[in-house]
Amino acid sequence: MSTIVYACSTNPGKLREFDFAARECGLESIAVASLPGLSGITPPEENGMSFEQNARLKAAYYSNFTPELVFADDSGLEVDALGGAPGIYSARFAGTDATDATNNELLLNKLASHSDRRARFVCALAIAQDGHVLHTVRGTVEGEILHAPCGRNGFGYDPLFYYPPFQQSLAQVPPEQKFAVSHRGNALRALFHWLANQRV
Ligand code: IMP
Repeated sequence: MSTIVYACSTNPGKLREFDFAARECGLESIAVASLPGLSGITPPEENGMSFEQNARLKAAYYSNFTPELVFADDSGLEVDALGGAPGIYSARFAGTDATDATNNELLLNKLASHSDRRARFVCALAIAQDGHVLHTVRGTVEGEILHAPCGRNGFGYDPLFYYPPFQQSLAQVPPEQKFAVSHRGNALRALFHWLANQRV
């Protein structure tokens, strides 16, 4: 019997990663798909104070629209020298109309006088059913912020995120190589391993 798990995203890149992670964890009987009608549902206010809180409130909210399992993610960049900023504000670090370029430029400006360049990407995932969160996981990847963008792959802060084991930024490696070590990859593997032990 196959189980459907709905994701609260219509982003094709993310959906591919979700499905890939399910296959990687040997969950052949699990199908991951975008929640039907997602684009017509008014999104909840993401007013949590942490990645986990935002993932949990989204998963609980969207799980009211289907009897199936639903999972939601929230992710971003934490920079040690900035006290963990931009954190949950990563997407709009440079303002409500921020772009990847303006966010990266602001990050470089704020770090100009700092020698401590340590940072991590964080991804929280929550899975819910009938309005109740069943489980939450967190994935991270540790790196350093470069002094200038490097590489053309990926998105967001990837061109500034140097990953020491690769001796490259995450924008310089192919998507599969990033996924093998990324915060989202690690969180998805943890979530699907949990799911495999629950019911599949
Ligand atoms: P979201 O949770 O996917 O909406 O991500 C929030 C923001 O965090 C994005 O807009 C990016 O700025 C940043 N971010 C999250 N994951 C990544 C990543 O894998 N690479 C680069 N930036 C990321």
